[in-house]
Formats: sequence, C-alpha cells, structure tokens
Amino acid sequence: MRQTQLFTKTRREAPADEVSKNAQLLIRAGFIHKEMAGAYDLLPLGLRVIEKIRGIIREEMNAIGGQELHMTTLQGPELWEKTGRFDDAVVDNWFKTKLTNGTELGIANTHEEPITAMLTHHINSYKDLPAYVYQFQTKFRNELRAKSGIMRAREFLMKDFYSFNRTEEDFKAFYEKAAEAYTRIFMRAGIGNVTYRTVAAGGTFTTGFTDEFQTISDAGEDIIYVDKEKGIAVNKEVYNDDTLAQYGLDKASMVEEKSIEVGNIFPLGTKYPDAMGLTIKDENGEQQQVHMGSYGIGLGRLMGTVVEVLSDEKGIVWPASIAPFGVHLVSMTSNDEVVVAYADALYEELTASGVEVLYDDRDARAGEKLADADLIGIPTRILIGKDTISSGAVEVVDRATAVVKKVTRDELLSHMGSVASAEIAG
Ligand code: ATP
Ligand code: MG
Repeated sequence: MRQTQLFTKTRREAPADEVSKNAQLLIRAGFIHKEMAGAYDLLPLGLRVIEKIRGIIREEMNAIGGQELHMTTLQGPELWEKTGRFDDAVVDNWFKTKLTNGTELGIANTHEEPITAMLTHHINSYKDLPAYVYQFQTKFRNELRAKSGIMRAREFLMKDFYSFNRTEEDFKAFYEKAAEAYTRIFMRAGIGNVTYRTVAAGGTFTTGFTDEFQTISDAGEDIIYVDKEKGIAVNKEVYNDDTLAQYGLDKASMVEEKSIEVGNIFPLGTKYPDAMGLTIKDENGEQQQVHMGSYGIGLGRLMGTVVEVLSDEKGIVWPASIAPFGVHLVSMTSNDEVVVAYADALYEELTASGVEVLYDDRDARAGEKLADADLIGIPTRILIGKDTISSGAVEVVDRATAVVKKVTRDELLSHMGSVASAEIAG
C-alpha cells in the first residue's frame, strides 16, 4: 500500500487522558482511535495486526479440532437466570439494555450459557462428543478500571473457545492440548519467552483452580510468582504453601513479577451443561453429564501486550508474524525522478511477488519518514536513495536491532520472494 493512500497520519502526541504506553503508541502511529475511555476503533493498520493475530489463533484452534461459529451479542435473561449469572450482584460488569416492551436483555459479556443451550439442539448422544466450538466475538464489560489502554477495554474482541467432553478424563486430555495450543499462539505472536502458564483462582466461573497465561510486563495489573527454570508461575491471589506443594514448586526459587493476563483456560466441570440441560445418552441409553471447559484470549489485549513488551523509545517493534506489513519501503527523496522511479518499480515487484509492502511515497523529509517508520514499527525497512542508484545496492534495516545491510536488488527480490512464498505455503 502506498502511504499517500493511507488516510491515517502519525502524530507526535497521544490524547492527554491516555496513560497507557500501548494506547499512546498505537494512537500516535495511527493503528487505533480512541472513541472514549475503554473504547477504541481499529484503523487500517490496527485491523491488519488484529487480522494477523486472528489468523494465528484460528490456525491453532482449528488444529485442536475447533469449529468456528458466531453467537449473538443480544442475550436473553432466561438462560442466565438458570445459573444465577444475570444478577448484577454475581456478575457486576454487565451492560444491559431493554426491549421496547421493557424486557431486559444482556449485551454479550461472555457466552457459556447461550453456547451450551444452543448445543442441546444438536448434541444428544455420546457419539456426538467431543464437541469443540469457538468464535471471535465482541464482548462488552463495564470495567471499573480503564487505564490499561486496549488491554482493558469496555468493548473488545475475544476469541472464546468451549470444549464439551464425555468424561473428565477426556476433558483433562483436551485441556492439556488446549494449553499447548496457547503456548504456541503466544510463541508465534512474539511474546512466548516472557509468557508463563500460571495457576490462578477461578473467579465467578469455577471454584477450583484455573490456568492463566501471564506475560511479564510492568504494565500488568496482576502479580505472579515465576519459576523460570520450570517455566511455570502462580498468581499472587492463590499464592500459599498448599498450592505450591500441590504443583511441586519451591517457594524459595520463585520471583515476583508484574504481569498481563493475555489468555486463560478454565475447567468448568458439569456446571453449565447441567444448568442448561445438556446431557448425553450413553451406550446403554442412560443419561450422562457433559464435561466442559472454556478458553479465552483477548485479541486487543494480545496486541497491546506485544506493544508493551517489544516497543522501544522510538516506537513500536512488531514481530514479523503480526506486523501490519512485512516491509516498509521508503524513498528517501521525493524530488529525484530516478530515485522515485526505482522505488516505484521495486514496490510493484515486491508486491507482485507476494510481499506485503507499505511504501512511503510521501513528499516529506527523509528524517520525518524514518521517525514515522520507527514509530509504526514494521520489522524490515528498505531505503532507496541517490546512492542506491549509484551503488546498485539498497539498504535493508532491521527495526528491532537497527542493523543495516546493503544488498543488491536481485538478492533482495529473491530473498523477499522466497520469504513471501514460504508464508503463503504456511
Ligand atoms: P481479567 O482478569 O483481566 O479481568 P478475565 O479473567 O475477566 O480478565 P475472561 O473473562 O476469562 O478474562 O476473558 C478471557 C480473555 O479476554 C482474558 O484472558 C483477556 O485476554 C481478555 N480480556 C478480558 N477482559 C478484557 C478487557 N476488558 N479488555 C480486553 N481484553 C480482555
Ligand atoms: Mg482473570
């Protein structure tokens, strides 16, 4: 895409009321727009990142047998009354609305009840299980704290996955597979080395322990104790000797860290299937309970976490896997016809070979273009200047390390082309 066609502009300052680093950088670089506290628009660059994240999550969820669907945002109270969760005293952050006749409705806070009730129309026999379903759906929560930018929004996109198994044993085996898929997702999104599977309390969902995936960051709202050698952690809210002993952890070797909950997985037992009447007939025609789990990831929270963890003083640093574009092509002068023609041709060729290129073809000073490129954070930058024409080599700059390489145009095209085709081939 030509940057002259991109309607968003970079800006020097973030809104004065925006205190979080993730939203400040994403707003300044033109990825998001703040509508109000806790509500952000995804602009073209931001949407591209979210779509990359969605693609990674979708691949991993499909790989463990997930079937994608899409549930409604409007939720009738009847199902939630069966579990007691329509009550504001039980779930305190519901947004609700009313039909013209006065009937109260919920606005998607989560989906355990409707998804389980919907499945009663399709699942009757042990032969129908397991069932693994998921969606990317907008959730609305009247969050008290909205100071963490897009990491704690009042309207946000969540991937929520629900598993339904015949036995607790089957459930446990699947739960571990889901945990492994989560580990792969955070690895692929570039934060795997600072993200830990963490023992946590279940909140309103369950009375037992659950697992959170926590990313170490000063911007986090949680506190965890990490055993880096074993690669596991415990949330401070359940930190006590009994819990540690249960997981074979030694207190002495654990380090306290602030962290961001990027995802979580919950064992839900038979609570929701029982309440919604989701049961199955076994081989003898006897009714049996269904064992459920739920598995969430906030896409915006993941994007914000990557910004918090990987950005530097100049701006955002995207991992290639979720960057809005693979390459930022910058023509360093706009008044030299030979340079412009060279950059135009390279843009066309790279694009034709499948590389996603943002081409800075603006009539602006080189310094301004480079500062903007640092802020936007595309992993690979290609600079075309007068010396490119004389030397026959382009400058390739790595955003993360600032390492500069000079390569010939042919080397560049064959390298970029093979990277792009490898990506397309998956
Ligand atoms: P938290 O403890 O941070 O409030 P939660 O335990 O309520 O989150 P879930 O309801 O299980 O989280 O949601 C699943 C995932 O959705 C979380 O792990 C997180 O990635 C994301 N998420 C939750 N709340 C928000 C929010 N307000 N804004 C953005 N993402 C969110
Ligand atoms: Mg939580």
